[in-house]
Order: sequence, then C-alpha cells, then structure tokens
Amino acid sequence: MKVILADYSGFCFGVEKAIVTTFEELDKEDKNQKIFSLGPLIHNVQVVKELEARGVDVIEDIELVSEGSVIVRSHGVPKKIYEAADRKALTLIDATCPFVKRIQTIVEDHYKEGYTIVIIGNPQHPEVVGINGWCDNKALIIQEEEEVKKLPNIEKLCIVVQTTMSISQFEKIAAALEKKAKEVVKFNTICSATKQRQKSAKDLAQKVDAMIVIGGYHSSNTQKLVSICNDIRPTATFHVETAKDLPVEELKQYDLVGVTAGASTPKWIITEIIQKLRNI
Ligand code: SF4
Repeated sequence: MKVILADYSGFCFGVEKAIVTTFEELDKEDKNQKIFSLGPLIHNVQVVKELEARGVDVIEDIELVSEGSVIVRSHGVPKKIYEAADRKALTLIDATCPFVKRIQTIVEDHYKEGYTIVIIGNPQHPEVVGINGWCDNKALIIQEEEEVKKLPNIEKLCIVVQTTMSISQFEKIAAALEKKAKEVVKFNTICSATKQRQKSAKDLAQKVDAMIVIGGYHSSNTQKLVSICNDIRPTATFHVETAKDLPVEELKQYDLVGVTAGASTPKWIITEIIQKLRNI
C-alpha cells in the first residue's frame, strides 16, 4: 500500500506550546509544587496519560485547588478563572493559544462598546465556553444556520468564530447573521493551523482511494477533518485514535491511502500508523 501524509497535519502551534510549557514546569526544580491541569491538556488520551504519570492532575473546577500551579490549556478559560486564581493565590500557567486569546480580547472590547456578541461554534466546547466568559456569558452561540432565523433583529453585532470551525460553515452562518443587524463587525477567527489542515486534507482526499484521519474521538478539529474527508470519500474515510484502531482487513482493498491528523495528535502516533499502513 502506498501512503501519503497531508502537507499539514498533527500538532499545531498552540498545542505544541501548551505541551512544551507543561513539560518545562515539570522539569523545574521545585518538585513539591503540585501541578493541575484545568481539563485535559489536549484532546489526546495517550498524552494525557503520560502527563498524569508525571504528576499532572486533571481537575474540572479551580475551586477544588487550594495550592500549587494550575495550567490553562490552549482552549483558554473564562475571565473568572483568572480572578479565582488571584483570590486563591494560585500560580496560573497560561497556555492559552494566542489565536484564542485574540478572540477573547475582541469579545471583551466589543462587549464593552455595546455590541451583541455572536460566537459561531459549539456551545459545549471549552474554547467557546471560555470565550463567552469574557462577555459576562451573554454571547449568542450559533452552531447551525437554522438557528439564525430564530434571532430577533439586533442593533450592533460582533461576530467571532470558534478557531476550529469549518470555513464553509462559518461563511454560511455569518452571511445569514449579517442580514439580522444594522451594524456588523465580523472577525474570521478560524486559526491558520485549522485552515491549513482542512485545505490539505481536502486536497489529499481528492487524490487517494481512502483517507485515515487520526485524532481524539472528542477532538473538535479532528471531527471537522473527518467531515471534510467524508464529503469526498463517504465510504472510505476512517477515524482512528491509535494504530490498533486501523480496520486492517477493510483497508486491504485500497492501493493509495491518505493520512491526516488533528491538531492534538503527537508525531509518534502518526508515524506508527503510517508504518502499519505501509505493511498492509
Ligand atoms: S487549533 Fe489553532 S487555535 Fe487551537 S490551539 Fe491549535 S493553533 Fe491554537
């Protein structure tokens, strides 16, 4: 079997930064300082397990911590988490991706100027929950074009989008929203890593017989890559987390297979999967 890896895949800049920051903290002298991660550091079970083995405990609520350091992962957090860390004198290790930080700043500034904030994205995703926390949780969160119809007319609208949203979905929803307000400011905040990964997955899916998408089953950006590949190869797109998930028997029918990976996928997992595919 011939295997081609997408031009852009795997760890993005923001995830890489969060991991490096965390390992740097772990390597510091003060081993007595406990380190917590507010939610799993990245959407990758294997990496989270490795960090746990090195003493990074995953917590969901900062109020449960009374001392030590708390890592803010690349998804970012609401403003109240920074206030809580201050109040509790905790050390906050801020690994918020700069692309996400930019959205938080846009939202905070425009909310203060009286704009109604719309976040195009998944309301349950931690990045979106975090962004909403910079405008008193008053943002309207829209995931599907249909939901726009139910909105009233709005005076001043500020539109931002979850960094991992698909570009076509953003454009559709933003166009519908623009008809709802007198004044609109629109920020395409889909990050460049996401755009590159989506484009190269789409290009590759058109050239091969089947696509393997590697990444956490709960990873939003991986799911978007799966959906893009599915549109082009509806019966030949396979989402796997590790090499053992590969449907080896089913894959034997294909000669040319493309591989892409979500932004939280470490290189060693990609390499292992490519090796296994080449041996088919
Ligand atoms: S996917 Fe984009 S926004 Fe998210 S961490 Fe990576 S670079 Fe940052």
